[in-house]
Amino acid sequence: MAGVQLHGVKKSFGDVHVIHGVDLTIDDGDFVVFVGPSGCGKSTLLRLISGLEETTDGSLSISGRDVTHVEPAERGVAMVFQSYALYPHMSVYDNMAFGLKMGGADPEEIDRRVQAAAEILELKPLLDRKPKAMSGGQRQRVAIGRAIVRKPDVFLFDEPLSNLDAELRVQMRLEIAKLHNDLGATMIYVTHDQTEAMTLADKIVVLRAGIVEQYGSPLDLYDNPDNEFVAGFIGSPR
Ligand code: ADP
Ligand code: MG
Repeated sequence: MAGVQLHGVKKSFGDVHVIHGVDLTIDDGDFVVFVGPSGCGKSTLLRLISGLEETTDGSLSISGRDVTHVEPAERGVAMVFQSYALYPHMSVYDNMAFGLKMGGADPEEIDRRVQAAAEILELKPLLDRKPKAMSGGQRQRVAIGRAIVRKPDVFLFDEPLSNLDAELRVQMRLEIAKLHNDLGATMIYVTHDQTEAMTLADKIVVLRAGIVEQYGSPLDLYDNPDNEFVAGFIGSPR
């Protein structure tokens, strides 16, 4: 079975219990958005899926394979961060190629993938630039390009647009939606922007204090919130 599955996933940092036993099935190709208040565990859950954090308990599978104890690089996932995390001294091309080079990929294959990603993201004229000579939106595109070249089964986005101004956020949101359409990959996306959640998501996961309060389509959650908390988060724009 494809997609992402979590079974009783828990995470503690010392005595602090952050994720309290999450069961979740994300269908292959879905765009799933995690929402919830600051500190509820959205980033932690994403990091558990990516393998950047180890689960304290429970299990996790991706594309039908148990990856609970599998290295991040072997999980078929790629993460896009809010802070871009680009190498400032490297060109756009090298930023996108770096991970593949480290993984020992064939140079021609690396070039094909970088060129293809640059085409999709309209970065072709900028391949020789350094990140510091680029706008926030361009940098975020490079960060997305770096994920695309890895051809992951699952893309993980942690508030990728929150450093951008409002106008650029709208534009990048449309680009991410298009990317999802074009690639057909599973995407898991953390945001606290309600509009982003409602417009991008096939399904929304509402989290509160490390627990899934509700999981459903934007329309389900809007029309039939399970409780006041979900209604407050999804139901009425504020
Ligand atoms: P969100 O992304 O929803 O804002 P996080 O997943 O970043 O929330 O954090 C959830 C909780 O886990 C917070 O209380 C945070 O302080 C705690 N936490 C996250 N990472 C660590 C860590 N490495 N060590 C200790 N506590 C952590
Ligand atoms: Mg976070």
